[in-house]
Amino acid sequence: MVFLGPPGAGKGTQARDLAETWGVPHIATGDMLREAVAAGTPLGQDARRYMEQGALVPDDVIVELIQERLGKPDAKRGFLFDGFPRTIAQAEALSTLLEDLGQPLERVIFFDVSEAELLRRLTGRRVCRACGTTYHLVSSPPGRAGVCDRCGGELYQRQDDSESTVRTRLQVYDTQTAPLLDYYRKRGLLTTVHGEGPVETIRAALRQAAEARS
Ligand SMILES: [Zn+2]
Repeated sequence: MVFLGPPGAGKGTQARDLAETWGVPHIATGDMLREAVAAGTPLGQDARRYMEQGALVPDDVIVELIQERLGKPDAKRGFLFDGFPRTIAQAEALSTLLEDLGQPLERVIFFDVSEAELLRRLTGRRVCRACGTTYHLVSSPPGRAGVCDRCGGELYQRQDDSESTVRTRLQVYDTQTAPLLDYYRKRGLLTTVHGEGPVETIRAALRQAAEARS
């Protein structure tokens, strides 16, 4: 199964949760790249060069990472992808890999969250200048606006959480991912889950969508 959704959609939390319930690996390419870089593997060294330049890691590197991961014994019973594929080229490479393994994709879940809600979630983070404690204006606000509960320090918004940066991230996502939605819809694999509202409601909707057999 693949989980697709914009940054801030909350798919990571739900994907981890469902993978644990099913006893299958939660395969998040972002985490895997950071681990490969930290471990200094040849692939990690390769990926690091791109990441240091702020460039996207090329499809073939990502696909190699996925191929290695799928070869591990815990992936025999299935797997849940989070943050992969991101491009049509990656989706096609994945399809070939899975055909070779005889484990085709069963479903692609799209987390649909409005842009207004994504902006609210992604721009709400505030960080204490003095001690680094993180708050969120909606989900974990400080007792007094602009002031750290722990040390009384001043709270500020990081540059990468600013509205203009967040809008750019969302645009990049839109450009890359809209074609993927069509790609999987045409293959009859796409199910949309409404990603707003209480976490428990989203979880229930997700399980229903994920466990339904087409
Ligand atoms: Zn503080």
